[in-house]
Amino acid sequence: RVNHGDFLKALEEIKPAYGVSEEELTDVIVNGIIHHDPIVEEILDKGKLFVNQVARSTRTPRVSILLHGPPSSGKTVLAASIAWASQFPFIKLISPDRMVGFSEAQKIQFITRTFTDSYKSPLSVIVVDNLERLLEWTSLGSRFSNPVLQTLLVLIARKPPKDKRLLVIATTSLRPLLTELGLSDVFDSELRVPPISNLSSLERVLREVQLFSSEEELRQTMRMLADAGFAIDLNAEEDAALHLQVGIKKLLSIIEMARQEPERAGERLVSAIINLNS
Ligand code: ATP
Ligand code: MG
Repeated sequence: RVNHGDFLKALEEIKPAYGVSEEELTDVIVNGIIHHDPIVEEILDKGKLFVNQVARSTRTPRVSILLHGPPSSGKTVLAASIAWASQFPFIKLISPDRMVGFSEAQKIQFITRTFTDSYKSPLSVIVVDNLERLLEWTSLGSRFSNPVLQTLLVLIARKPPKDKRLLVIATTSLRPLLTELGLSDVFDSELRVPPISNLSSLERVLREVQLFSSEEELRQTMRMLADAGFAIDLNAEEDAALHLQVGIKKLLSIIEMARQEPERAGERLVSAIINLNS
């Protein structure tokens, strides 16, 4: 199993030829990936299949996939990991986080330049992160940037020039919005990134990040959660009073909060998780 250290080592070992925005991606992937549920491996495996498809099939020089799931479920990091694992010579991240203060025209220019730059490389991956924010979507008044939308529609759908291949991996927390905007048709495939929804997964995360120094503390905390009415595993979920729904990013931040008070870490964790549900 790949742990955080292996991951960073792998990042170091890959010395890409050109185009790869190394610090951008290591930035994103820096906390690594916890295999809390078989779905994580499945998503990474499917990602690898698309990478191989782009690299090998002559009929599909352009493949685009959409990772969607609730906020904080791990979409950005999974997309970046699939991109990074491709070892393609050109890997870029288009992220609204890196466009703070950009005008609409500057955004369009940046997005367009990233795609045209990719056409110089035989094999490229572009991660288009957080589509709804890139589109400046505001639910209030249902506003968004139509010029950015048109740019993305054209660029994601466009075939790269002869002998060039491109994989686009986009992410969104607002899957239904894309259908409304006519943006879902440009994707060849979709992968859902689910939140953590059972105690077994949560327990795996707690072990991985070593919140507790003893097995007894962990057991006790898991018992508190079960007593609070959370389902132990997916099959039992129907009988459970409470349904756990927490994104991995949110859970990790709750864990770090609990860690600040080691003597009461279990209690703090449990009450924070119960609060998510109310
Ligand atoms: P947002 O909806 O705010 O854009 P997101 O779904 O993109 O959030 P990420 O930004 O990818 O979520 O955050 C996931 C965090 O959880 C990262 O810090 C990542 O290192 C960590 N992580 C741990 N395990 C996993 C996993 N199995 N999958 C994804 N991320 C994981
Ligand atoms: Mg994200």
